[in-house]
Amino acid sequence: MFQVDLSGKKGLVMGVANQRSLAWAIAKPLAQAGARLAFSYQGERLKPTLEKLTEELDRPVLLEADVTNDAALDQLFGQVADELGGLDYLVHSIAYAPAATFERPFLHTTRDDWKTAMDVSAYSLVAVAQRAAPLMTPGGSMVTLTYLAAERVVPHYNMMGVAKAALEATVRYLAYDLGPQGVRVNAISAGAVRTIAARSISGFADMYSHAGEQSMLRRNITAEEVGAMGFALLTEQLGGGVTGETLYVDAGFHAIGMFLPREEA
Ligand code: NAP
Repeated sequence: MFQVDLSGKKGLVMGVANQRSLAWAIAKPLAQAGARLAFSYQGERLKPTLEKLTEELDRPVLLEADVTNDAALDQLFGQVADELGGLDYLVHSIAYAPAATFERPFLHTTRDDWKTAMDVSAYSLVAVAQRAAPLMTPGGSMVTLTYLAAERVVPHYNMMGVAKAALEATVRYLAYDLGPQGVRVNAISAGAVRTIAARSISGFADMYSHAGEQSMLRRNITAEEVGAMGFALLTEQLGGGVTGETLYVDAGFHAIGMFLPREEA
């Protein structure tokens, strides 16, 4: 019933660091369905990895951009317009907070660390949406990645949790502004997946094993499950009625109000 053919569609995927990245998990089904993709990466060191990853894709476009740099973003979207001639899909899969914010109590968050985490992890969605929206026609769609620590305290997540709360609110306001243009904006709240960004969070191993033991499905989720939901939210045929939403791909973990000791769970 739902054969989705994305031939002629174009997407920009931001935040592929390697084959484990959630952005790559979303890019794969888009490419398999026929979409042509551009990828943006931060720093030349990632280019060889991306070249290797994307070598089987149809004319991939690889572009460098640090999302904290407005001039770099202007250049990126100019290149996307030139190379792809428009945009149907945007994947924003980018976050950063200084390592110290995961290690010390939230109480001791510094002004600089607050600004950095908010800039890279939340404001960047506004900055890219401003530049992506003019390239989109009705049916355009944007997806970002968030985490439960936006609404609940998850030990160690600290400043990144606050930044994710801002990101989720940002999704709603952008969806409101872009709705009249027929462009949708959504977030996927993903369960723990072993990626580079996740592994750099102090306490991630505990988060990962707790979620695997205690989630409703009694397992961790996979990057492919995030990719499938990203595909659904991005494509008009599947996600056309959904915007301004934070959708959980976390094996039901977010909806549990009380955790029993493991042997009873
Ligand atoms: P990842 O593979 O490490 O991806 C994170 C990406 O963000 C990297 O490509 C990184 O580039 C990029 N980035 C950081 N600062 C940037 C900047 N200033 N400009 C441009 N790019 C920048 O890890 P991931 O887990 O897939 O993370 C993707 C998203 O999913 C993040 O928003 C994360 O918070 C979210 N998420 C992850 C999990 C999980 O358990 N993995 C769960 C929920 C939500 P560099 O490598 O160059 O820094």
